[in-house]
Amino acid sequence: MARKFVISPTKLRMYEQCSAKYRLEYIDKVGRFYHRARAGQAFGHSLHRALDAFHLAGGAEAVPAETLTASLEALWITKGYAGEEQEHEYRAEGVRILQEYHAAQQAALTEATAREDAPPHLLFTEKTIRVDLSPEVALSGRIDRVDEHHDGALEIVDYKSGRDAVTVEDVEGSLALGIYQLLLKQKYPERRVFATLVALRTGARASHELSEAGHTHLFADCLETGDAIRNKDWEGVLPVVNEHCPYCDFLPHCTRFWEREGRRSNRNSQP
Ligand code: SF4
Repeated sequence: MARKFVISPTKLRMYEQCSAKYRLEYIDKVGRFYHRARAGQAFGHSLHRALDAFHLAGGAEAVPAETLTASLEALWITKGYAGEEQEHEYRAEGVRILQEYHAAQQAALTEATAREDAPPHLLFTEKTIRVDLSPEVALSGRIDRVDEHHDGALEIVDYKSGRDAVTVEDVEGSLALGIYQLLLKQKYPERRVFATLVALRTGARASHELSEAGHTHLFADCLETGDAIRNKDWEGVLPVVNEHCPYCDFLPHCTRFWEREGRRSNRNSQP
């Protein structure tokens, strides 16, 4: 049986941003020559790993704040920092974030106990869910964390390590969070599913639930784009300057391409 073509939020976002970037990453597979480690990414991954371990071990009920902050040391990713000073600053910020995260979790537990409410419990962390959209196309996404509330609702929790604030519109407009809801709803059709963004620097949170019509449209959009990518003729897909170029790892590649094209067109235009 032919293998399914698998799309993900990352692939869809990249294709929408720049099809040449998609080609370089997934068709030509030259990303390893261009991708650079970045401080923000390394910091985010380190925090994700510490929070993953924390929730898997039972959260604030079972894990003291000191254990959570100590785990950051053990799970710290060192690649990507400009130097020791910058790494030290990020590490101190990571400890502060985790201390405050723990205090907020502890306060939520205390509040739930006072209300004689059962706090949500962890369903899973860092899990990839895959769903077939058609006989040819599958959709896959890796979810940071899912909590199960006492009324059966499933809450997708997504951490943002570089932001101070998040809004309902951020959740509503996030392709990844829409797709995570779609994937989870396909697995648990009888449950209410919603998504929450957490700005780790401040503890700000915002939630949104995709409507039934939203699920239907997103499913159709993902399938349509998945089919378009799967059937695309990649030969003619070349880099075109766009708003994402300044932040793109492939910029050196494309700059060389544009310079080559410029020289060629100059030669051709000479009498
Ligand atoms: S540098 Fe610009 S044109 Fe080249 S792959 Fe990146 S986004 Fe696309």
